[in-house]
Amino acid sequence: MSDGELTIRALDEKTVQRIAAGEVVERPASVVKELVENSLDADAGRISVRIDGGGTEKIVIEDDGIGMSEDDVQLAVEEHTTSKIRDIDDLESGVATLGFRGEALYTIGAVARLTIRTKARGGEAGTELRLVGGDVEEIKPAGRPAGTTVEVTDLFFNTPAREKYLKTDSTEFSHVNRVVTQYALANPDVAFSLEHDGREVFSTTGQGDLQSAILSVYGREVATAMIAVGDERSEGDDERDTEDAERTELAVSGYVSHPETTRSTREYVATYVNGRYVRSSVVREAVLDAYGNQLAPDRYPFAVLFLSVPGDSVDVNVHPRKMEVRFGDEGTVRKAVRDSIENALLDDGLIRSAAPRG
Ligand code: ADP
Ligand code: MG
Repeated sequence: MSDGELTIRALDEKTVQRIAAGEVVERPASVVKELVENSLDADAGRISVRIDGGGTEKIVIEDDGIGMSEDDVQLAVEEHTTSKIRDIDDLESGVATLGFRGEALYTIGAVARLTIRTKARGGEAGTELRLVGGDVEEIKPAGRPAGTTVEVTDLFFNTPAREKYLKTDSTEFSHVNRVVTQYALANPDVAFSLEHDGREVFSTTGQGDLQSAILSVYGREVATAMIAVGDERSEGDDERDTEDAERTELAVSGYVSHPETTRSTREYVATYVNGRYVRSSVVREAVLDAYGNQLAPDRYPFAVLFLSVPGDSVDVNVHPRKMEVRFGDEGTVRKAVRDSIENALLDDGLIRSAAPRG
């Protein structure tokens, strides 16, 4: 600070909007996360993600979900507008959707050029809405089947400070890839596809089983080295169904890799709590503990683990954007994860042989 007087002034609306936006949208992967969550919340059966230049040039997310009417799409890009909750009571009683804050489209619109093409299921006509830096530039009819396409170009064109923090295209794309992978594995009943600079990176079938999602995302070498954990060994039911079921105790299911199929980073240990992707050092350590000395030094397994935890013993909202989680009883979680993986590693539970337990 210079030795001049401090002058307090109110920031203008655009400045406030862009500062706030920079906190929600850190990089292309955060845009992709928000838009994929919107597509999942809209009951999509198919979600395609196309990225150019690591996502700074262009992000296009297309779904076959419920879509929006002309009135709704205009509301959707306003601040704090959502169809997912009505008031704080809805929030207290628990939200089933991934979003509810009503700020993603508004925020993305503020720091990029945003085009939404959408048609409601059963609606008569589609709509195209174009926004630049938060201002509506154009709204016109657009022919298309039911569903929504959101196109984001020139991310951070009006927030150079944020743009400076972006890494190379390939680094930004690797974050995008991780996000899409997380959702594709958590939603095997949705057909995901991911493209970068016109090349397909992966696509899942949407057939509903976790094995084929793992095969599509990680390839055959990894998929055939995966060992079923917990419930997956008896039934291949999908996470979204179990989410609604009464949860009275902790359950662990999913797949982990054979100790010889590893990578040099821990990023392939993906954990989900009650259907939501989370980062949890408790779970990660428990996974590594289960392998004990079977892993070579500095090598990490693949894991896709779903923890079903009674709602009142977990706080996933420690920080919604960082996807961190706090368990009421860490010791129990640690033990459940370690035990179920240890059992799986002991048994012949390889996907390839698909042998039943015992
Ligand atoms: P939130 O997801 O928290 O409600 P968003 O800003 O992400 O807030 O979206 C605002 C609203 O726009 C949503 O509540 C939803 O009604 C609508 N919307 C957004 N994306 C889609 C989509 N892909 N399909 C249908 N409706 C959508
Ligand atoms: Mg949203």
